[in-house]
Amino acid sequence: MFTLEGIVAGYAETTVLRGVSVTVPDGAVVALLGANGAGKTTLLRVASGLLRPTAGRMTLDGRDVTHHRPHQLAGLGVCHVPEGRGIFPSLTVRENLALQAGDGKDGTARAVDAFPRLGERMSQTAGTLSGGEQQMLALARAYLANPKVMLLDEVSMGLAPKIVDEIFVFLERLTKEGASLLLVEQYVTRALALADYVYLINRGQIAYRGEPSELEDEDVFARYLGTH
Ligand code: ATP
Repeated sequence: MFTLEGIVAGYAETTVLRGVSVTVPDGAVVALLGANGAGKTTLLRVASGLLRPTAGRMTLDGRDVTHHRPHQLAGLGVCHVPEGRGIFPSLTVRENLALQAGDGKDGTARAVDAFPRLGERMSQTAGTLSGGEQQMLALARAYLANPKVMLLDEVSMGLAPKIVDEIFVFLERLTKEGASLLLVEQYVTRALALADYVYLINRGQIAYRGEPSELEDEDVFARYLGTH
């Protein structure tokens, strides 16, 4: 179980998160929804160790990880797929995968099993892939790290619906293999279909938390997301 409790964080003079608590149970999918600028990306940056909170606490399986650095959290299985992806554009697909697999292990078979399309692109430079393929590569790299908790920031942003379908099939597979997901997603319907728990964040505070089935009251969306 991964927990964030009373997180306060921001940038220079700006406080963005004002006491945010989120619990990600083992194997669960938690969707984090909210309007632009609500603080979703900031929360994922805190969760991955990229941004230090000024107050609050994070735990992973009961262990305090509040002051862990990104590589320490990654070593414990907390894996961040940031908006904008985080691949090496000048390296080939194969090299990107090999760097992640490490120890001379070849992760390509597992990556291709998850995303067959990558199999046809192994020798291509990652920067010349389509946006969807780049996202698949980013996800495949994260997958090879055997994540325990995946932090996913708008991984379907700007992609064609067919690609988004493939990505969501992959996310489902990840959860079946035991990973838990903290999912920031613009496709609310898809996110809710996959999620076990949903949190709505509004101006740096959790405005609502519950199970997707409880979210039939569309007023909740209108109030906090400015959608529907
Ligand atoms: P979006 O969907 O637009 O990415 P978000 O919910 O992810 O929204 P954040 O990116 O967490 O929101 O941003 C929350 C607030 O923090 C915004 O007001 C934003 O302008 C501000 N902010 C984000 N990054 C920085 C930064 N590096 N320096 C200063 N302020 C920032």
